[in-house]
Amino acid sequence: MTKILVIEDEKSVRENILDLLEAEDFDTIAAANGRIGVELAVSEVPDLILCDLMMPEIDGYGVLIALREESVTANIPFIFLTARAARADFRQGMELGADDYLTKPFTRDELLSAIASRLSKQANLTRKVSTFETQTISPKAQMIEKYLRRTLERRHFQQFLVYYQPIVDLSSGKIIAAESLLRWQHPELGMVSPTELIPLAESTGLILPIGDWVLKNACKQTKLWHDAGFHELRVAVNLSSHQLIQPDFSQKVMKFLLVNDLLPNCLELELTENIIMQDVNSAISTMKEVHSSGVKIAIDDFGAGYSALIYLKQLPIDTLKIDRYFIQDIANDSQKAAITTALIEMGRNLNIQTVAEGVETEQELNFLRRYKCDAMQGFLFSRPLPPAEFEKILFANKQLNV
Ligand SMILES: [Mg+2]
Repeated sequence: MTKILVIEDEKSVRENILDLLEAEDFDTIAAANGRIGVELAVSEVPDLILCDLMMPEIDGYGVLIALREESVTANIPFIFLTARAARADFRQGMELGADDYLTKPFTRDELLSAIASRLSKQANLTRKVSTFETQTISPKAQMIEKYLRRTLERRHFQQFLVYYQPIVDLSSGKIIAAESLLRWQHPELGMVSPTELIPLAESTGLILPIGDWVLKNACKQTKLWHDAGFHELRVAVNLSSHQLIQPDFSQKVMKFLLVNDLLPNCLELELTENIIMQDVNSAISTMKEVHSSGVKIAIDDFGAGYSALIYLKQLPIDTLKIDRYFIQDIANDSQKAAITTALIEMGRNLNIQTVAEGVETEQELNFLRRYKCDAMQGFLFSRPLPPAEFEKILFANKQLNV
C-alpha cells in the first residue's frame, strides 16, 4: 500500500487531507510540525510527502533541505502545500528539489492527480534505474535487438506481418472484430516470437515505428474487408506507452482513418492497465481525445496488471478484455469464477462490452455464455491468422455454434 506522510501544522487542514487520502486507500502518517515530519520521514520512509510551506520552527523549505541531505529520504517525491501562490516561493521550492506545488485551497481532484502523477513518475524512474543497473541481456536478445535496429534503419517493413485473431459475439456466434497482432519474419532469425519481440521493442523504444506501421496496416486491411462486404468488422490494435505519449498521436490515428475512408468506430485501440498507469494523466487526455472522435477504447489483459479503479472511472472505456488467466479453467476455479462474473456484471452496469481472452475449451465457453459475457477470443474458435486465412473464414461465414 502506498504510504503518504502529511506534514501540516493546521489541524483542520491536516485532518481533511488525511480523510481524503484514507478514502482512497492510501496508508497515511501525519506530523504536526517540521521537526516531527523529518523524524517520521527518516524512520518510516514514506512513498510520498505532502508538506506545508509555512510552519513555525522548521518550515517547508527546512524540511525539504533536511530530507534531501539524508540518503534514505533524498528521493522521496515531495509536494509543497501553500496558501501563497507567489512565483518566488514556487521557484525557491523547485530549486530546492520539490517535485510539485499545490496552492491551498486545492480540490480533491487536484490533490489526487498531483499525487498520482508523482507516484507514476517515481515508478518509471525506479524501473529505469533498476533495469539499467541489473541489465543482463541474454546474447539472443542482444542479437534480436541488433537485427531489429537494422531492419528499422533500412526500413525493411516487409519483414513484419500483421496476423488477425477473430473476436466472436457470444449471443450471435458471429465474428464482430479482429485483433491485429504483430509478427516478425526475419530472413536469418526466422519467425521471432512476439513474447521475445514485444518486450524488447518496448524497452528500447523501437516499438514506436513498428506500432505506427501496424496501426497504418490494420486500417488499410480493414478497408479492404469493408469493401469486400464486411462493413461492420472492427479492428483492434494494441498500443504501447511510447505511442500514447506522442503529442500528435490522435492526429495520426485520424489520418490513417481518413486516408482509408474508414469510420472511427471501426477502430478499437487496446491499452493495458500498466501502459495507462505509466503516465496516467497523458493517457487519460489522449484517450479522451481519440475517443471523442469516435474511436473505441479497450482495456487489454484486464486484471493482470496493476491499476486503480479511480482512474478507470475517468477513462472513456468501451471494452474490457478479461485476462486469459481468469478464463483458464474458470469452470473449476471458484475464485476466478467470482472475479470474472463480477467483471461481466460491472461491464453490464457501466455499459462496457466484456471480451474473454484465451478461451480454449467448451467448458470455459459454456461458463461465459451462462454469465452473459459479450464476446470471446481464443484458440477454441481460432488462433491468430494471416490476412488471407482470416479472409477465408470471413467468406466461409465461420461462426460459433449457438
Ligand atoms: Mg491485446
